[in-house]
Amino acid sequence: MSRSCDFLVWGGGLAALLLARELRPARVRVFAGHHPPPASAVAAGILNPITGPRLTPVADFAAYRAGAVRVCADLHRPGEAPLLRDTTLRRYLRGGEEAGRLERRLREEAAAPFLEGPFPPGDAGPPVRDPHGSFRIHGAARVDTARLLTRLRRELADSLEERTVDPATCARTSVGFRAGGWEAPVVVFAEGIAGRANPWLRPLPLRSLRGETLRLRCPQLPDPGEVLQFGGKWLLPEGGGLFRFGATYERREGDDPRTTPAPTPAARKQLLATWREWMGETAPSPEVLAQEVGTRPASPDHRPYCGPLPGEPGSFVLNGLGSRGALHGPRLAQRLAAHLRRGEALPAECLPGRAEGRGSGAAAGL
Ligand SMILES: Cc1cc2nc3c(=O)[nH]c(=O)nc-3n(C[C@H](O)[C@H](O)[C@H](O)COP(=O)(O)OP(=O)(O)OC[C@H]3O[C@@H](n4cnc5c(N)ncnc54)[C@H](O)[C@@H]3O)c2cc1C
Repeated sequence: MSRSCDFLVWGGGLAALLLARELRPARVRVFAGHHPPPASAVAAGILNPITGPRLTPVADFAAYRAGAVRVCADLHRPGEAPLLRDTTLRRYLRGGEEAGRLERRLREEAAAPFLEGPFPPGDAGPPVRDPHGSFRIHGAARVDTARLLTRLRRELADSLEERTVDPATCARTSVGFRAGGWEAPVVVFAEGIAGRANPWLRPLPLRSLRGETLRLRCPQLPDPGEVLQFGGKWLLPEGGGLFRFGATYERREGDDPRTTPAPTPAARKQLLATWREWMGETAPSPEVLAQEVGTRPASPDHRPYCGPLPGEPGSFVLNGLGSRGALHGPRLAQRLAAHLRRGEALPAECLPGRAEGRGSGAAAGL
């Protein structure tokens, strides 16, 4: 005999837990597994308004940032470090081509308010060398995603089942769906890269983008007081001579998405080579304290999937958060919950049916 609830949610990362929190006080049951470990726990948590080699302004950045600010403020406990901190990013130019791109972006309405610079070579000072100069990105923030996950798990404790439930065992019934001993009219699949093996998500291509990072100790390195970006990598100062440095970006289609990825010597080598290239051979060598790995679940067009599964009434997805789960996760969870509970519209650019040109189905009516 199955127990009944309003929503069954799959996943133990930011997508599922943020959504479950937004769905309450409805009766939610979350299957929150640990294998593979959530990418959310490895993320740098940077909310960055200007990204990538083309210095692209992120669409609707202010609204997404506000979503993250709201949930981090709600979950903050007095006396504890904030879950979200404002920061600036200092980005080091690679050469003349990138400098030209910066000049163009400085003239664009969508990008200019976030940009300061360019600063001439030598302005940044140590530790990173800046022969082509640098610039600054304003309006960014850092979310402590590992602590955010812990807070969410604690808050949702009475709705969570810390186990893996194979979505292939999810069956339709007269009232909706049954799985893992529960029955509900609505299911939401939000299980990150493991979604690649989920038969319900077969029409949605998900790509595996593996990212590896290092935890470093380097007391000789001055604390820059902001996030540094050089050579396509970020350096996060953590205080007390500790840093996080990452991340690699590797497409791994052959991996079984349900297994736990292991850190690789190649990624460590690549990261340390970037460190030496940008800091110089005489720069202090960091002590590697840990190497961490996670898999970003990405859609081919790099837009998240948030909404109803085409042709499967009552089933929904929140996945494909790619490299921006900390930025997009909170607001998309808020939007999906508002859709499921009150029938509010979903962001059209994130609808799972977009490839086929299909729109959102009716809300679940709860
Ligand atoms: C190195 C790295 C750096 C990053 N940096 C940033 C950044 O700076 N800014 C940013 O915005 N984003 C960043 N990201 C991206 C962000 O981490 C991801 O977009 C986000 O974490 C994806 O969240 P998710 O909940 O979809 O998946 P995950 O966090 O991977 O969570 C999925 C969870 O579901 C569980 N699960 C899977 N299958 C089942 C099942 N059948 N039953 C029960 N549970 C199941 C898994 O065990 C896992 O716990 C980074 C990612 C990486 C890897």
